[in-house]
Amino acid sequence: MDDSRDMFGDTPPWDEDDLAGEREDAAPRAAELEAAGQQSMFGDAEPVSAGPASPEPAPPGSVTSPAAPATEPPPTATEMPAANGKVNSPAAAKAPPEDQPSPAQPYRVLARKYRPQTFAELIGQEAMVQTLANAIKRDRLAHAFLMTGVRGVGKTSTARLIAKALNCIGPDGQGGPTIDPCGACEPCTAIAEGRHIDVIEMDAASHTGVDDVREIIEAVRYSAVSARYKIYIIDEVHMLSRNAFNALLKTLEEPPAHVKFLFATTEVDKLPVTVLSRCQRFDLRRIPAPMLAGHFAHVCQMEGVEAEDEALSMVAAAAEGSVRDGLSILDQAIAHADLDGEGRVRAEKVRDMLGLSDKSVQRKLIAAVLEGKGGDLLDLVARQFALGVEPIALMRGVMDLTHRITLAQVSGAAEAHSAEEREAIEGWAKSLRPGQLHRLWQLLLKGFDEVKSAPDPLVAAQMALLRIMHASDMPDPGSLVRKLEEIAARAPAPAGMPAEGGAPATAGAAAGPAAVAPRWEALVDDVEYAGEMSAANTMRMQVRVVELAPGLLRYTQPAGFNEDIVGVVRNGLQTATGERWQVERVSAEGAPTLVEIAEVKKAADAEALRTSPLVEAALAAFPGAELIEDDRQVAIGGGRSWRR
Ligand SMILES: [Zn+2]
Repeated sequence: MDDSRDMFGDTPPWDEDDLAGEREDAAPRAAELEAAGQQSMFGDAEPVSAGPASPEPAPPGSVTSPAAPATEPPPTATEMPAANGKVNSPAAAKAPPEDQPSPAQPYRVLARKYRPQTFAELIGQEAMVQTLANAIKRDRLAHAFLMTGVRGVGKTSTARLIAKALNCIGPDGQGGPTIDPCGACEPCTAIAEGRHIDVIEMDAASHTGVDDVREIIEAVRYSAVSARYKIYIIDEVHMLSRNAFNALLKTLEEPPAHVKFLFATTEVDKLPVTVLSRCQRFDLRRIPAPMLAGHFAHVCQMEGVEAEDEALSMVAAAAEGSVRDGLSILDQAIAHADLDGEGRVRAEKVRDMLGLSDKSVQRKLIAAVLEGKGGDLLDLVARQFALGVEPIALMRGVMDLTHRITLAQVSGAAEAHSAEEREAIEGWAKSLRPGQLHRLWQLLLKGFDEVKSAPDPLVAAQMALLRIMHASDMPDPGSLVRKLEEIAARAPAPAGMPAEGGAPATAGAAAGPAAVAPRWEALVDDVEYAGEMSAANTMRMQVRVVELAPGLLRYTQPAGFNEDIVGVVRNGLQTATGERWQVERVSAEGAPTLVEIAEVKKAADAEALRTSPLVEAALAAFPGAELIEDDRQVAIGGGRSWRR
């Protein structure tokens, strides 16, 4: 990009162009492309139309309309009506030659040169054209039209086409409104050049005040000078002030029959409902990249320029649905190709030239994220930022690629702008699991929001991408479960692992008095069922069984328990069994109390759980995760409760 800038030197090839001032530095930057595009859109909207008049002198053979004899010099105002018998406005006298491509003409930006002159040339808006055609055919034309859509989809072009459609009188001067304006009659040519006296264009972005609108409203009262309709084209109409809207509203409510308003806006949400409700609305569609690429191929053919399909696809992708932006980029690409002496627009060069919207950066970023290369990642982000790429655009680019990988996985076919990209997308579609892609998307979406609202978007983008990189080490939940199950199924149950539902081996293995535990536990349960809750609790907590036989219990108490519980225990046992019991406190070694047994069992369970293959795998996958007891008793494996 930088070296190509040098090649241009100080004399741009288009220095005769009226945009020369805009483009002295020939290397394209987004802002400049934008400026050039806007210029081509609005530059010739001024009433005086200095643009086409001076730098494009009339070749002698050029004609203003088919009716004018080609051999004569351009007719003057007085000659004109006599020559062809049709009514001409004074404005026609100043008519500069028609905008027809001819080899003698100096360079003009493509966006202007290929501005659609008929509805047929307006690509991607078939639905709107059909609606309009019907309205014209049935003579049911609204007083106000509203064209909405992103920039560069052709809102202003459409407005001018509608102006032509409404005011065309046909080559014979007898025609009425038509969806197919002839492009040859005086109103058609004048409108195409932006110099028709009854078609007033205004950019609301620079005329926001109520005074500007008042001027219009005053003028509305007077009928059209020469045309069927007096047409006001107000671009970026949402920029009008509230007062301006209010002033306009009165006219919109009861417009004179000879007046039509054509509004264009990128931000329809900002228009008052009162205005919206009085307009016939046309939503212009963003033009799909393949259609744009096709259009650019056509333009290249018309220009006699050879271009690789892949190069045109890249230009179309960078245009983001805008014909105007795309043609501006194509302009630059053709200029580069000419300077290279090849005269062929090559994909490789276009990629270099686009630099800014270099799609390979997205691939490198995703690769860095997936491969855990933090250094590369930060480097890429920093370099893009230095080039002027907004961090938010970077995030969006990566999201776009993730989306396309996901689609490719589902459909099996990758949507790509280049062969390399297709290869990369298909590779990822095969190697990544759906769960991984969805999680990547979620994380990117979160990062996008953060970058959008962060005080320092660059820092936010770095942090977000690093976080995504670190998170990408982790398997997605679905595959984790699968992996854990695999491991658990493979590994033999370890010795310490009790059989399902069984008591821990460590707690029940002790010989001697502890062997009575099951019988004792059953007996205590009986006591509880018999309604002796308090006795049962005492027995669980304080009785270490020394000897247990029918009608006989010898016990000791754990340290710290000294109260006399003989009576309580005896009564409990008697109630439960209906027998008399001999209960004695002795000083001997007893089995643990039921409470003590339960505590040991619990500790053993936890240990067994922690060393089970399932949990070990989980802990390895999530370092730092802890086992937490869960009251909700999530049953996993042997009926134990656990969760991350
Ligand atoms: Zn016409």
